[in-house]
Amino acid sequence: MDGGRNRIGDMRLRDRKAFITGASRGIGRAVALAYAKEGAVIALGARSMEPLERVAAEIDGAGGRAVPIAIDVGSSESIEKAHAEVTAKLGDIQILVNNAGIAKSVKVLDMDDEHWQSHLDINLTSVFKITRAFLPELVAQKWGRVINIASTAGKVGFRYTAAYCASKHGVIGFTRALALEMATLGVTVNAICPGFVNTDMASEAARNIAAKTGGSEEEARKWLAKLSPQNRLMEPEEVASVAVMLATDASRGINGQAINIDGGAVVY
Ligand code: NAP
Repeated sequence: MDGGRNRIGDMRLRDRKAFITGASRGIGRAVALAYAKEGAVIALGARSMEPLERVAAEIDGAGGRAVPIAIDVGSSESIEKAHAEVTAKLGDIQILVNNAGIAKSVKVLDMDDEHWQSHLDINLTSVFKITRAFLPELVAQKWGRVINIASTAGKVGFRYTAAYCASKHGVIGFTRALALEMATLGVTVNAICPGFVNTDMASEAARNIAAKTGGSEEEARKWLAKLSPQNRLMEPEEVASVAVMLATDASRGINGQAINIDGGAVVY
């Protein structure tokens, strides 16, 4: 891949198989492309098949291998079905990236049950259920990586996103606890905590801010960028690069961490 720059011996994820949720666009797609470039075979999960098939074709076209898997991470039945399909198509995986997520904004005083529950179901409970489904095969192989895409909203609060913040704080708590359970079993469990990343999710946030403030979407994007001391949005590839690092054999000592990628906005 990448014009043949990687020689086979250089590929850090050669012989690894990964399942990535939310892999059709944004951060999940970037992680999938980066993993494929490092030699991993990928199962790509999301609800809509067509965008997933496009990512799979992109990877296949570059000499890698990826299979699209329909999954709604908010449904237990869909998780079980997807797990069975991943196993049937690829066999046991070693790397699980829990990335699928949603982020809507509303004041707590205006928040209905559905808003709260959907964030907890899709962003947090799914991470538990998907990890529980795949974990036995990681443990049996005595080698595994669970990488949860949380957020800096898992470490600090942001206005109008209480359900999102609560779900991402929960993801980090789950990550830290499971990391201790897995510590002697060859499986590491870590979280990545991006600030605002240049994806559809950030564009939606900018559109919402513009609609609520009466300003332009461009102004809202500049305001989001200013939340980082680097005065910019992060790029999905920057998140992917840390996801690759965590998945390598060399990172076996990194466990229970929640690594920020936000230009220094949140410093713990
Ligand atoms: P995105 O561009 O909106 O993409 C979301 C992905 O998740 C899509 O592939 C989507 O595909 C999938 N998805 C959504 N709901 C799903 C469901 N119920 N079941 C299965 N798949 C589902 O999001 P992103 O910006 O790449 O964000 C990815 C992760 O990073 C999220 O967990 C997000 O909270 C986190 N994050 C993002 C930012 C940011 O600024 N972008 C910052 C910090 C953390 P379908 O719609 O087809 O299902």
